[in-house]
Amino acid sequence: MTASFTIAIDGPAAAGKGTISKAVAEALDLAHLDTGLLYRAVGAKTLEGTPAIEAARTLTAEDLERGDLRGPEAAQAASKVAVIAEVRAALVDFQRAFARRAGGAVLDGRDIGTVICPQAEVKLFVTASPEVRAKRRFLELSAKGLAETLEEVLADVKARDERDMNRAEAPLKPAEDAVIIDSSTLSIEEAVTQALKVVATLR
Ligand code: C5P
Repeated sequence: MTASFTIAIDGPAAAGKGTISKAVAEALDLAHLDTGLLYRAVGAKTLEGTPAIEAARTLTAEDLERGDLRGPEAAQAASKVAVIAEVRAALVDFQRAFARRAGGAVLDGRDIGTVICPQAEVKLFVTASPEVRAKRRFLELSAKGLAETLEEVLADVKARDERDMNRAEAPLKPAEDAVIIDSSTLSIEEAVTQALKVVATLR
């Protein structure tokens, strides 16, 4: 493996990219960055009154360790701050430095293959139907005791898709050379196996 080997994994909310990214990173002994967490942390700070651009420019490692980043409020706030060009710009250097670390890295998000790491050695775009994604997220949130109905989760997924795909800055879309994995009818194990197969052919 080359010194800096980057795997970019993009896709819409709850498509399974987080689980796939973690599994791929573990299997190949690579560092993993969930870039959604950066936007969630900025979003969470705006809910407390910090202006979005300031929150992005002053983000600390501690901000990423907050306990409330996985919930639906932080998710919605994240997708709102993610449309702001200055917010995205403030987070670029950190993500690129992480991607190029010695030993290699897996980054998952929305614009990793298109904007952050267009030179990534491997680009995957993991997707699934909104209904399948909502059901998965619903089960995940229920298990954590974060009460939301399936209808609310589906509405959240669709609202974020809409915002993420239609923004002017770094909209969610597959890179031209990304390999698409549709996980709608796959178990998570099957999706991980597919992802690892793609990586193996490109390494
Ligand atoms: O991946 P996750 O669902 O945690 O991301 C939360 C939100 O952060 C997304 O809906 C999206 O608006 C934003 N995001 C982004 N670019 C990324 C990662 C996340 O715009 N690379």
